[in-house]
Amino acid sequence: MALGTAVVLGSGTSNGVPTLGKAYPPEYLAEPKNHRTRASIVLLGPTGNVLVDCSPEMRLQLLREGVADLEAVVITHTHADHIMGMDDLRSLCLKYQREIPVYTSPGYQEDIRRVFPYAFADFPPGVFVPRFGLRDVKETLDLGGMRLRTFWVHHGPLLVLGLRVQNFAYVTDVGHIPESAWDQLQGLDTLILDAVRYRPHPNHFHFEKAVEIAAALGARQTYFTHLSDDYDHHETNATLPSGMALAYDGLRVPF
Ligand SMILES: [Zn+2]
Repeated sequence: MALGTAVVLGSGTSNGVPTLGKAYPPEYLAEPKNHRTRASIVLLGPTGNVLVDCSPEMRLQLLREGVADLEAVVITHTHADHIMGMDDLRSLCLKYQREIPVYTSPGYQEDIRRVFPYAFADFPPGVFVPRFGLRDVKETLDLGGMRLRTFWVHHGPLLVLGLRVQNFAYVTDVGHIPESAWDQLQGLDTLILDAVRYRPHPNHFHFEKAVEIAAALGARQTYFTHLSDDYDHHETNATLPSGMALAYDGLRVPF
């Protein structure tokens, strides 16, 4: 029996798909899997749920998936598309009457304090703001009845947090996987991996590179995420080798 389920909340690149200000053929828009909110997953564990990144659509994503509670949030890095939904965590802070634990690196904790200073300020009774309990990322995080193994990958000049639980791993926003992380990605049943677009990108794996890395890592199934509007869901899937496919909003992976 599976320990838990990973739900892809968003499979889109930083500007989302469809992208504001662009025109698309009606056939493209008619396919629900071509509609991609910003990249995030939630891990549904036996005793609690762990949100991985907090996209601008976080509230709508969790409502869509029927997730009403979070034990903790893990932030992979602080680019806008991964943290701009954090204000909406206030509803859960209000529900629990306490801060919500947020795990990320010390440098990213500073960014969160700078972007959401009011979440750390004093307010009179009756005024409710989100409260973030910032915590460092350890080699393993025991959350929601799951043991998450953590590692860092390169995203241009930044380090981005990757996660493994059981034989499932999530690696978003990556342009290079160092050896230490590579070792953590062996023997996987399912890998979710960045494949931002067809053309090479300085900070992300593009399609060809992502396929090459996925083949080298050899997970039984790899799903690509952080996807731009380069991809038509079904057309792209028809070109992928077996064991590889595009992720989509709402995809569920047991682990
Ligand atoms: Zn990023």
